[in-house]
Amino acid sequence: MRFPCKCLLTGLGLAVLTVMLSAADVPAKVVIWKLDDLTAGEKRRVVPGFKRVADWADEKKTVITLGVICESLSKPNADDIAWIKKHAIENGGRVEFWLHGWDHKSWEEKGVKISEFKGTPVEHQTKHLTDSCELFTKTTGLIFHVFGSPYNQIDVHTPAAMNAVPALSIWMYGPKEDKQRTILPRSINMEIATGKVSYDAFMKAYQAKSQPAMMLLQGHCGMWDDKSFADFTKIAAFLAQEGWVTKTCGQYVGK
Ligand SMILES: [Zn+2]
Repeated sequence: MRFPCKCLLTGLGLAVLTVMLSAADVPAKVVIWKLDDLTAGEKRRVVPGFKRVADWADEKKTVITLGVICESLSKPNADDIAWIKKHAIENGGRVEFWLHGWDHKSWEEKGVKISEFKGTPVEHQTKHLTDSCELFTKTTGLIFHVFGSPYNQIDVHTPAAMNAVPALSIWMYGPKEDKQRTILPRSINMEIATGKVSYDAFMKAYQAKSQPAMMLLQGHCGMWDDKSFADFTKIAAFLAQEGWVTKTCGQYVGK
């Protein structure tokens, strides 16, 4: 009789342990703020919208990510570079800086729309990535690990171009077939138009269906007016209340 009893106890013990383990194992819901279009040059300075969100991150003790358009660093502004260095997460700040292209250009050729990483030769794309990484490291001492293309436009050449820069191991809104890097997919939006955040539209999308465990939310904080900024902070407060944890891409991927 002792054997089955022992079995029962062990079974119960295991069940309790399983419940405890699964509670601990449930991954936190993670939100990453993907904020685009930072420039830091003499011609195109860091605009106030970025400083406002970085100050907000400091005040809330949270983190944000800012995408850099690197051509602006060809003639860097010393104060802006100091601002980047001070806020970089590698230096104890709260900002992950990521590569958002060299020039962010788009144009038309024979009626076909082309942009920096869509419809351009692989050499063009490779040079834009390598030049960006080199110049960013030269001016700031930091290394890019994350890429997100301008307009989120890419083509078949882009993965090949990225192979030239192995440090770029995380790809925001990249193609899910890519197995060389960690792809962080798109889910819902917080902007209803470029540079315009809507709390109401976000809530509608959020409540319409269950969300994935990681949301990478895009914004253009350099363009935000007071209402957009206020709606962004409202969304952030709501998500925190819902148990979403804010991370950088590197923190999320574990690098
Ligand atoms: Zn952009």
